[in-house]
Amino acid sequence: MASPQAERLAEQHRVQQVALRAGVSRDVVALLRDLFDVENADRTWPAIRSILAAIAVQQRGTSATLANTYYGQARAEADVSGAFLPINPAALAEELLKVVLDATGIAAFKRAIALGRTPEEALQIAGVTLSGSVSRLVLSGGRDQILGNVREDRQAVGWARLTDADPCAFCSMLASRGPVYRSKQTAKFEAHDHCACMPVAAWSRDEAWLNHSRDLYEQWQDITQGQSGADARRAWRRHWDNRKGA
Ligand SMILES: [Zn+2]
Repeated sequence: MASPQAERLAEQHRVQQVALRAGVSRDVVALLRDLFDVENADRTWPAIRSILAAIAVQQRGTSATLANTYYGQARAEADVSGAFLPINPAALAEELLKVVLDATGIAAFKRAIALGRTPEEALQIAGVTLSGSVSRLVLSGGRDQILGNVREDRQAVGWARLTDADPCAFCSMLASRGPVYRSKQTAKFEAHDHCACMPVAAWSRDEAWLNHSRDLYEQWQDITQGQSGADARRAWRRHWDNRKGA
């Protein structure tokens, strides 16, 4: 099980990333409020999209830097010998940026209008969807950084998922599976918009499990007994949502 120091460093890092995300969300909402003209949505959108893309690229770099600092600290804390050079994360593809921003921005606005919302309400809805997608793009910087470092770092054994105190059923399910070992080179960090989870690197199998994941793992075994695949996931979702509602 991860040491208390390792868990503390990981949580500290997660909180830094969440704070970065909160700043990005505020910027996105303010930008829409200032520049989005509900009467001329199509005309004002390309300029707004360019600024959003710039924010995403820049803050993604900040997220990666935070992740690298954390990675170095956690590695030192784990007493790992030898030096390690962090990877350079791949840049966001421009086409992906455009598709994501259009879908969660102008398209979300128009969909809301088509469903009978007022322009003001539609703009608010677009603010929520856009801040979710932009902050996900931003946090992918830190997430990709850690997964990439683990892949390149010969001493690393894998990574685990650290959630916030109140994760959704999807994230709690992923966390319940415990560490993703380095041998699974192709594993991606699955995250949804507004997700506050971060990966936690580990340098020994003994320390790869997080306390929280161990609890979730036992709950999962209990709740999904005798079930597998989609049935197990359904049972888990039901359990999780009831538990949260209770
Ligand atoms: Zn999550």
